[in-house]
Amino acid sequence: MTRLRINLEKCVACLECIDLCPCNAIQYDQTAVYIDQSCTLCGLCFSKCRFDAIHYKEVLPEKPSTENKMNTAGHKGIMIFGEQREGQLQEVVRELLGEGKRLAVQLDTTVSVVLLGMHTDALAKELFAFGADRIFQIDHPLLDYFNDELYADMIVQVVRQYTPEIFLVGATTYGKSLAPRIASRLDTGLTADCTRLEIDAEKRLLKQTRPAFGGNLMATIICPIHRPQMCTVCPKIMLPIEPDFEKTGQVIKPNIVFSKGIKTKIVEHIKLKSNHANLSDAEIIVSAGRGIQKLQNLELIRALADCLGAAVGASRALVDSGWIAYSHQIGQTGISVRPKIYFACGISGAMQHLAGMMSAKYIIAINKDPDASIFKVAHLGLVGNIEQIVPALINEIKSHYHY
Ligand SMILES: Cc1cc2nc3c(=O)[nH]c(=O)nc-3n(C[C@H](O)[C@H](O)[C@H](O)COP(=O)(O)OP(=O)(O)OC[C@H]3O[C@@H](n4cnc5c(N)ncnc54)[C@H](O)[C@@H]3O)c2cc1C
Repeated sequence: MTRLRINLEKCVACLECIDLCPCNAIQYDQTAVYIDQSCTLCGLCFSKCRFDAIHYKEVLPEKPSTENKMNTAGHKGIMIFGEQREGQLQEVVRELLGEGKRLAVQLDTTVSVVLLGMHTDALAKELFAFGADRIFQIDHPLLDYFNDELYADMIVQVVRQYTPEIFLVGATTYGKSLAPRIASRLDTGLTADCTRLEIDAEKRLLKQTRPAFGGNLMATIICPIHRPQMCTVCPKIMLPIEPDFEKTGQVIKPNIVFSKGIKTKIVEHIKLKSNHANLSDAEIIVSAGRGIQKLQNLELIRALADCLGAAVGASRALVDSGWIAYSHQIGQTGISVRPKIYFACGISGAMQHLAGMMSAKYIIAINKDPDASIFKVAHLGLVGNIEQIVPALINEIKSHYHY
């Protein structure tokens, strides 16, 4: 196997190669320049180095054996990406802290949060209240808006310094973009979209469970020889702990270097109008599936949602048909929700849909097929035609509440 290597005797640390590298694979840690696993062997640095300090080298491939690697000793603690947007902590961080606490008890260790942004001091109290023992805070104007390349670079530096054994990231749009960059730079594994986490305390392994094969079975994945064990976790699945606002902890400002090699610059920040926030926070959701049969019937669903003050969700079948925007899709490849009441109207109850709404407190299903799978998870089931049941429900609610 061929790799690019720096000849440290020839390298004068001019750092020109860092700017040149399109993969951000060349790093400088204040003592030496080195090339990490992100290198794609494009050879740009090799051909441009004025000091002839970069060369190709044959290295033996690593044996895929548990004896081969890796020094997991020295890695301790659970670290969480403290995702915030415009100074607001994302709900998934509270959920990860709750889950992190539960896992930490089994590993007899602590939970820390990496908090990146600008003017984030106010979030410390909240993070401690929800379970953080330590916060690694990097406050800088360049971190004001999320930049996956820069954020990943900062987090990699923090992880290298403080060597956690587990690193958890929310499976949000930010987290899904960030986590693979971090994992590849750290040369470790990553399990995406986990819905359950458990600990094998004896081996100090994180058992990461997620839907596999199109959601038809659940796979439990472990990362035995590389550290940290990394995964993204679906929002609205784990439960936060009861906050204790008297609790405090340690705030650490890690020593980090802003790499010259970051290629992504935020030019402008444009807010998209999105239904996500509505759906994620809604206490009641009325969701429509293929069983509504025609586009006009979506108005029935909206009318039911309106009179309940609910948000409108959808199955993928409806989104694929083009009747409703993707931002309404609930499920494995849509968003996860945890409302108090979830109405599933003309939804069969495929596993991929259930993956996004099973945490709802009460599930009410309307379906004309008495054997539909949705009835296995519903707390209340109405067997019949949407076109009859939904208008009747609306009338009943309106008469009851004197609209
Ligand atoms: C990798 C992968 C990811 C996926 N991700 C998602 C996801 O994120 N979210 C998601 O929803 N799906 C997802 N799917 C698709 C999923 O497998 C199902 O195909 C989809 O959820 C089915 O949608 P549905 O229940 O609306 O339609 P159907 O399965 O067709 O069900 C329609 C239901 O409506 C009922 N019905 C029909 N007419 C009426 C009527 N007049 N009145 C009352 N009931 C009626 C029927 O009895 C039936 O149960 C994914 C699939 C894959 C492979």
